[in-house]
Amino acid sequence: MDYSLDSGKVAEATERLLRQRGVDKREIGELVLFLQRDYYPELTIEECLESVERVLSKREVQNAILTGIQLDMLAEEGKLLPPLQEIVFNDEGLYGCDEVLSLAIVNVYGSIGYTNFGYIDKTKPGILKRLNEKNGKDVHTFLDDIVGALAAAASSRIAHRKQAAKESGTSGMD
Ligand code: MG
Repeated sequence: MDYSLDSGKVAEATERLLRQRGVDKREIGELVLFLQRDYYPELTIEECLESVERVLSKREVQNAILTGIQLDMLAEEGKLLPPLQEIVFNDEGLYGCDEVLSLAIVNVYGSIGYTNFGYIDKTKPGILKRLNEKNGKDVHTFLDDIVGALAAAASSRIAHRKQAAKESGTSGMD
């Protein structure tokens, strides 16, 4: 077995798993737009998507995504040990480790991500609503928090850049 690792493999596997689990990056971009449009009415979906890509390029983000999706998949296959199998499969409300893992993503652009993360976790717009629908087969216990965290981090990045641009007198689009 070859257990050698390179960063390309990690990035590639992250992209592939997100796609395989039905997450379209554009839908994450739409969450970012939803979170930020009141503050930056001129914000475009392209800027949001670019921000999502930048968040996804970070290794600690990729690590959290790989870990969370893996646990969802193992729960779907009934391969976790009890009682974790039941907890993850049923998306037990008091479990909390799904949110905690996602904080590794929320944190990459500082603590302003927390507000956004909490807000979309409560309102569940767009793709988050779909990921939360239970059909007794698919498990998205970790994935819904991961997607919300990606949108929250990408939003924080935009807010930081807009603020920096304002302070330096540039457009913030570069
Ligand atoms: Mg969850």
